[in-house]
Amino acid sequence: MKPRIVRPQTLNDFIGQDAIKHNMAVVIEAAKNRQEAVEHMLLSGPAGLGKTTLAQIVACEMGVPIKHSIGPAIARAGDLASIVTQLEARSVLFIDEIHRLHPAVEEMLYTAMEDFRLDVVIGSSGAARSVRIDLEPFTLIGATTRSGLVSRPLRERFGLNLRLSFYDVTPLSVMIEKEAARLELPLQEGVAAAIAMRARGTPRNGLRLLRRLRDFSSHESQLTMTRASQAFATMGIDELGLDDMDRHYLTLMASSYKGGPVGVETMAAAMAEERDVLESVVEPFLVQQGMVLRTKRGRVLSVTAWQHLGMTPPQLPQGNLFDQEESDE
Ligand code: ADP
Repeated sequence: MKPRIVRPQTLNDFIGQDAIKHNMAVVIEAAKNRQEAVEHMLLSGPAGLGKTTLAQIVACEMGVPIKHSIGPAIARAGDLASIVTQLEARSVLFIDEIHRLHPAVEEMLYTAMEDFRLDVVIGSSGAARSVRIDLEPFTLIGATTRSGLVSRPLRERFGLNLRLSFYDVTPLSVMIEKEAARLELPLQEGVAAAIAMRARGTPRNGLRLLRRLRDFSSHESQLTMTRASQAFATMGIDELGLDDMDRHYLTLMASSYKGGPVGVETMAAAMAEERDVLESVVEPFLVQQGMVLRTKRGRVLSVTAWQHLGMTPPQLPQGNLFDQEESDE
């Protein structure tokens, strides 16, 4: 059986995000020449854009191991100590959701990043003493979907601060065609682009849609446009890639809150969803598409969204709604 996910292994295989790849290539080359660890990097951007993949590529291009962790899983200073003391020289430590690190752990990370040492307090109260542990030089790659929540001291300790953006239809089509070839699934002309258009600018969505469509066409020699359209309709995915959850969000704002402004907490409660899910999964694409505006008084539906819903907007509310966006993404 073919592995479920095959991630690109080199910067060359990674499609799109050219500025980021260029930056990475420069620091990797320099680190190799100096036989040092690559600079620490912070990768930010919505889920599924390739942050984990890029971290693996850095390790692969450097020919070093990578250790994966996730912010909330490093609950205590001791957890961090046991991870970083086991890192080989020049290896990569990838911490996903780095904005969710415990403050005490984050503070300990500062000296680990800057001086490759840890100051650990051993014992309690009167008998407590600080012990210094030297570490092998390593590269921390932090990933976050909420860069606004990464504290300034942590952010400043990263040599590279790289922000991934949503992908256009063309690079997404290329990824989908490559994956279809790997799955030995012939695509009728236009199918890759039709999937890419519905991928919300996100490789993970495009690849997942392709795999779902494969299930719909398992008895056919190729995946046709007709079959793809039927499948999209069955899955409730419209021509912009919006799904039931997105439409629920938009219609709720339109019908219950007259298009806003409405606070994200209110929306989360009304939809029985976590605020974090709305902010990191649902909203980024709707904001990027210009359907939802984040204003200092709350979320507001744009005319585009009203049109997409086939509804007429009420008169726009008065006041300086649009003068300042919220800063936490
Ligand atoms: P993130 O860590 O940002 O949530 P991942 O790195 O897990 O995203 O990527 C999600 C999926 O999309 C993976 O299967 C990955 O291989 C694929 N992918 C992401 N970006 C690219 C790209 N630029 N080229 C090819 N495949 C990609």
